[in-house]
Amino acid sequence: MTLSFDPAKPEFRSGHFIGGEFVAGAPELAMHRPSDGAEFAGCPVAGEAIVDQAVIAAKDALKSSGWSTCRPRERTNAMLRWADLIDKNAEELARLECVPSTRLINQLIAGDIAVTAEQIRFFAELADKEGGDVVPTDSGSFGMIVTEPYGVVGAITPWNFPISMAGWKMGPALAAGNAVVLKPSEMTPFSTLRMAELSVEAGIPAGLVNIVLGDGPVTGNALTGHPDIAKVSFTGSTGAGSAIMANVARTGIKPMTLELGGKSPQIVFADADIALAADCIARSILFNGGQACVAGSRVIAHASIAGELAERLTTLMSGQKPGPGWDEATTYSPCISARQRARVHGLVQAAISEGAEVLAGAREMDHPGYFYEPTLLTNVSQDNIAVREEVFGPVLTLQTFESDEEAFALADHPTYGLAAGVYSRDVSRALRSIKSIAAGTIWINRYGRSRDHILPTGGYKSSGIGKDLGRDAYHANRRSKSVLIDL
Ligand code: NAD
Repeated sequence: MTLSFDPAKPEFRSGHFIGGEFVAGAPELAMHRPSDGAEFAGCPVAGEAIVDQAVIAAKDALKSSGWSTCRPRERTNAMLRWADLIDKNAEELARLECVPSTRLINQLIAGDIAVTAEQIRFFAELADKEGGDVVPTDSGSFGMIVTEPYGVVGAITPWNFPISMAGWKMGPALAAGNAVVLKPSEMTPFSTLRMAELSVEAGIPAGLVNIVLGDGPVTGNALTGHPDIAKVSFTGSTGAGSAIMANVARTGIKPMTLELGGKSPQIVFADADIALAADCIARSILFNGGQACVAGSRVIAHASIAGELAERLTTLMSGQKPGPGWDEATTYSPCISARQRARVHGLVQAAISEGAEVLAGAREMDHPGYFYEPTLLTNVSQDNIAVREEVFGPVLTLQTFESDEEAFALADHPTYGLAAGVYSRDVSRALRSIKSIAAGTIWINRYGRSRDHILPTGGYKSSGIGKDLGRDAYHANRRSKSVLIDL
């Protein structure tokens, strides 16, 4: 059976999904297929009235369905049915995601969608297991911490992993007893809409999952500033995260989970397995065309092995075959848009003008889609633009060090602290790295997430506030109330 398909075939239903129904909206934003540049659909932009309609639907559904007050196992069971439907409809979801995005059909089926269904199961199972606490007090009283859902959570997701990000937001919010109004990226809304429809099919009461389409400045702003949105959960760039903080501060105070940008280092010590390190580094920057928040884009290698590492990397990064995401033979993703590819190229050119030497790539690919050659730059100082800025494309920098302290100093980024990779066979050095690097995730002798959903993800510094995944994400969707009873 082939997974390849005709990109004109899927039906892209473009409308908002409110109270279990599609609400039409005029397509205002043109949508292009990044694999070949063709315009194929349009995205409506919800203004304040549509956002308000979605929030009211969410509040009404919470009131009428008993979602937050029922026996928690009922939430678990409904969400398990939803996860099963996601698995069952994986091919359709993958097609809806693959055409507008940079995700490849084979990776979606085996990866993103299967993992999202698992993560929804993970959160569903927490609903009747995670609770409050009885706390030690003096013997004349009884102390408790009870937890409650917030109400309506406003979620906003990026385009780089649309289904996964929607699962990360909706899974814990729903399991914890909330309703959700989610705004997906205006570039990739269709798979999220279908997920929402499947939630109703699974028996999650209509109105608990609402999707509003539109851009950040109009729809996103209306959502984060809505007085009845009790909590904001955002994944996207650090710039948009700051704009959201400012908007929330202007319109009221509410808790926020912010999963933002990164510029993650990968340190290769002289005692590392160089073949393993090269393989992990190349995969991390090639995956989704380098468009992952945790892309390990800054390689910091001991001077004695940097030459061998660079040779291995240039080999592993060469010979990528660009192609449509809907062709299962394709293994290399385009940039999301012509604008993003031009930005990547502009940053590479600026880095070269600041002294960077090109070991590979640094060119747009000769292809109708928005492809950029995997690029390796060396001879870059710590303040070179390619080291400082999140490129969000297939661009690696290579810096060298002599001492461990120098490596840790180079790894420290003034702005970001999302993830880091460390390659060493010396267990003490590896453990010292954990204490020496300021990042929310450290991977040692590997790079990238596993399917251990219990491990939370989130950033230090301007890479974010709070965590997605793990128990942390569930608890971030409930607020606590302290109770003290005098006996
Ligand atoms: P983006 O910030 O441009 O957009 C993300 C989402 O926010 C979109 O839905 C967009 O419409 C919306 N948005 C933009 N401005 C807004 C505003 N002022 N108010 C409300 N909503 C607004 O990011 P992107 O280009 O879609 O995604 C790439 C970025 O996301 C990268 O910086 C990447 O590192 C980051 N990211 C982080 C994680 C993580 O877990 N830390 C995961 C994936 C992506």
